[in-house]
Amino acid sequence: MRLANVEGRVKLLVDDRLVDIEQATNHRLPSNPMEAILRLDEIASLDLSGAEGVPAADAKLGPPVPRPSKILAAGGNYNDHLEEEGAEAPGEPNLFAKLPSALVGPRDEIEIPPGRTNIDWEVELVVVIGKRARNVSVADAWSYVAGVTCGQDVSDREEQFRAFQQWTMAKSFDTYAPTGPYLVTLDEIENRDDIPLQCYIDGEQMQGGSTAKLIFSVPTLISWASHVSTLEPGDLLFTGTPGGVGAFRNPPRWLQHGETLRSVIHGVGEMENTIVSIAAAGGIAAGAEAAVPTT
Ligand code: ZN
Repeated sequence: MRLANVEGRVKLLVDDRLVDIEQATNHRLPSNPMEAILRLDEIASLDLSGAEGVPAADAKLGPPVPRPSKILAAGGNYNDHLEEEGAEAPGEPNLFAKLPSALVGPRDEIEIPPGRTNIDWEVELVVVIGKRARNVSVADAWSYVAGVTCGQDVSDREEQFRAFQQWTMAKSFDTYAPTGPYLVTLDEIENRDDIPLQCYIDGEQMQGGSTAKLIFSVPTLISWASHVSTLEPGDLLFTGTPGGVGAFRNPPRWLQHGETLRSVIHGVGEMENTIVSIAAAGGIAAGAEAAVPTT
């Protein structure tokens, strides 16, 4: 199954159209994408082959999981990324938080605030937790997963590597967590332990890898995190990024106004996010007008 969030309502992808689950079930199932995560078995049993829908290509897609209680992310989880950074492989997972307010959809703009320049890309497989997980074993961890989606762990490197390193804030600016296009359940994935992923800027390949190369596997990350913090349905886990980011190139390369960042995860989906420098665009971010004093 592939579930989308269209303007706050959960839709099921049927062929190439998106069917509204609540309407198609005469209100038996919820419209809220977060509640749908608790009802995946019922959604899977539906036959919506004849139901009306809207063309998926035209839909205004939001993040498939819009309101997780938390987002955890793994740093330094691919050897080629550690090598380009000149860092040692960690002995245990390095997890930090991304704030859920950074989430945007798979075709939304990434907005760089004025005065910020060292903005980097990180394509990542994102795991969606399906049921409450506390102190789970590595062997059981996949059974707590609802599915996966594509993500970008957009990072402000200047903020991240300042004297008191700021991983969470550097990766939590508004719009710095695009995800989507769909929450894809695991039965759709050919090999859940070997999922290829790539990232492109304006068609030029920047990153390429596979989750087979994760230093700490998805089950290991889930188990480790669940011994610290109870994972709730809908919580997101960014699993780390392969080599090829901008910060460790010589010279470094940063995302620029007008560029298109394309993130591809094989069998899961792809996103295209345009970079908008608020300063270059000549003004404040869309939707921020209300914050500007008018008197
Ligand atoms: Zn990352």
